[in-house]
Amino acid sequence: MSEKPVYLTRPHLPPLEDFLPYLQEIWDSRQLTNGGPFHQKFEQALAEYLGVPYISLFANGTLALITALQGLRITGEVITTPYSFVATTHALHWNGIKPVFADIRGDTCNLDEEKIEAAITPQTTAILPVHCYGNPCAAERIQKIADTYGLKVIYDAAHAFGVTENGRSVLDYGDLSILSFHATKTFNTFEGGAIVCHDSKLKQRIDYLKNFGFADETTVVAPGINGKMNEFQAALGLLQLQHIDSAIAKRQQVDQRYREALQGLPGITCLPIPAGVRQNYSYFPILVDGRYPLSRDGLYQKFRDRNILVRRYFYPLISDLTMYRSLPSATPANLPTAQDIAAKVMCLPIYPDIDEADLQNIIDCLVR
Ligand SMILES: *Cc1c(COP(=O)(O)O)cnc(C)c1O
Repeated sequence: MSEKPVYLTRPHLPPLEDFLPYLQEIWDSRQLTNGGPFHQKFEQALAEYLGVPYISLFANGTLALITALQGLRITGEVITTPYSFVATTHALHWNGIKPVFADIRGDTCNLDEEKIEAAITPQTTAILPVHCYGNPCAAERIQKIADTYGLKVIYDAAHAFGVTENGRSVLDYGDLSILSFHATKTFNTFEGGAIVCHDSKLKQRIDYLKNFGFADETTVVAPGINGKMNEFQAALGLLQLQHIDSAIAKRQQVDQRYREALQGLPGITCLPIPAGVRQNYSYFPILVDGRYPLSRDGLYQKFRDRNILVRRYFYPLISDLTMYRSLPSATPANLPTAQDIAAKVMCLPIYPDIDEADLQNIIDCLVR
């Protein structure tokens, strides 16, 4: 057993000495939050890097998601995926919206676009898909359905930082997309998040909403929240942008190693990277089926016993949690593919500076 545990991820950080001048500037200016100079610079630099017209920075991705729903005045029912991090559905709950779960596709683990129409009711106002593991959703088909039924589309793009499909950012899709810069994500600001939008008026409304609804000193235009990103986070984000491309390139090498080592291993399937997609290699999910000598949970325990802390993302399904399982759409019979994948999935450690010996141990644990 190795002495130090191997975690699913190890947050990428720039050299500390590179960050000190930024900290000095914050200390000197005493501008700590409320849209200071680093906030403005990072917002602009990030929009340029991602190739999107407007970005509004947030303290974390969950607040961005909650505010995105407020920004578009979403109410009633929203069709979403049960196969995600809990925050996707929790954000609906915090807005008093009823989640309606539809099944996922086996190849991408994303909301199955062909299951959306059957879930629409007169109360449906929006679709909330997730680009799971950075795999792009079938955005054109989803937009067509949304246009036909007059629905909004909000993408939870927490896994999809920098992902493109045929050269186009996945953040171009839908009315809004949200990002997370949590420590465990490919691009991190310790905690952080953003809403991407395509319309200056909507950005303005979102900026009001994240600052209690203030439009100016004395005018409050909506019951907003405190969702602001602070100057520490923004300065770190600005610096992290200089390193993100090399971090993704290193993740790609780890992805490649796993794919080569696991090719043809009976009972282990790696999810394919769809054609034309530039991934960010946030996660390395595998599916463990009946041909493998151990059950998924048996293999999970074997890893744990070796101090390799793999995770079963996403198990359990959100629809199986106590607070959601009594919803009519949460019944397992409605979500067969999601149930199947949740029972088989396991995510292997992937991060830019993963130790070669640790990587070999992980592979050995699977193949021997
Ligand atoms: C991480 C994550 C979130 C939440 O982001 P935070 O920044 O941690 O609040 C939401 N959705 C998905 C799919 C995530 O992976």
